[in-house]
Amino acid sequence: MRYLTKSRFKLAVECPRKLHYSGKKDYRNTKQEDSFLQSLADGGFQVGELAKRLYPGGIEITAKGNAEALAATAELLQRENVTLFEPAIAHGNLLIRADVLIKTGSSLKIVEVKSKSFDSSDPQIEGKGGLLKAEFKPYIEDIAFQAYVVRSAFPDSRVTAFPLLPDKSRLASVEQMNQLFKIDRSGDRVRIVCDPKADRLTTEESLLCEFNVDPYIALVHEHGLNTPSGVLGLAEASRQWAEAYANDEPLPASIGAQCAKCEFKAPLGDALKSGHAECWKEANGWSDADLTEPTILDLWNFRGKQKLMDQGVRRLAEVTQEDIKLAPGSNGLSNSERQWLQVDGLPIEHKSE
Ligand code: SF4
Repeated sequence: MRYLTKSRFKLAVECPRKLHYSGKKDYRNTKQEDSFLQSLADGGFQVGELAKRLYPGGIEITAKGNAEALAATAELLQRENVTLFEPAIAHGNLLIRADVLIKTGSSLKIVEVKSKSFDSSDPQIEGKGGLLKAEFKPYIEDIAFQAYVVRSAFPDSRVTAFPLLPDKSRLASVEQMNQLFKIDRSGDRVRIVCDPKADRLTTEESLLCEFNVDPYIALVHEHGLNTPSGVLGLAEASRQWAEAYANDEPLPASIGAQCAKCEFKAPLGDALKSGHAECWKEANGWSDADLTEPTILDLWNFRGKQKLMDQGVRRLAEVTQEDIKLAPGSNGLSNSERQWLQVDGLPIEHKSE
């Protein structure tokens, strides 16, 4: 079964069309790096290892396959009280592997371990107008999706959600935690060796902090998800995306400024397919030849790409001096002068009047 998992949900919030290219070997994916090594680099693995030590008696669901993991989780959740690491919970085509799930009678507490640090004395998660601040938005939306799946699967349970994060107010850093988890590269595989001291750490010493985010999850449901396809309610978006992913149906290519950072872009002539090229051809009615011309996405250091795209600008040659507010710099070339050089430096047949 092709499930909408939390990583695919995150991908779809960035751009729903990405679901169609995700996991397909014949498409170029520039973010396809080793997730274990990436997690090591940003401290995620170390924080995860530490977190497991803070919930003694927790049982890890080691099954990798969805069916086995779902069965093992369901069996253990028969117990009145239990703490599970990496349990699998599904509702229809939606599936999550939570970092930690704590069952106490009819209450279910989701704990999501993150390596992003925050300040518990001044969290600063909510910004103007009750909207979530951009730096925390993906984390809150991720845990909101998990809470939605768990609530849907267990409608009679009280579900709460807590990220577990390094707390800046405790005056230490992930760097110090890294000392407890050494990386051993001696064999042909990379291994993590845990210092016995890590087993004796209390929550206070661990520098990690649990933080209830239910009020922020309510904001996600209230304001919806801001995606390139428009604002969608979390439940409706999850349903649409799960259905499209399960049937391998491409969602419309809602091209926009986000395409500049799309990982599914292959250079012209690449051996692998380019999702980016498919999207831009579909959305603009372009041919392969059209893809050889520079686009608005190539404009250097320019924040108004989405605005110009909303006005129908696609090619770099269509950009005008007014669009970039061309003005001289006080000390050398201004940003807009550099941008205009880029537009103006094109061969004459590409230039706009
Ligand atoms: S090229 Fe743009 S529309 Fe297509 S998948 Fe990437 S971000 Fe989405």
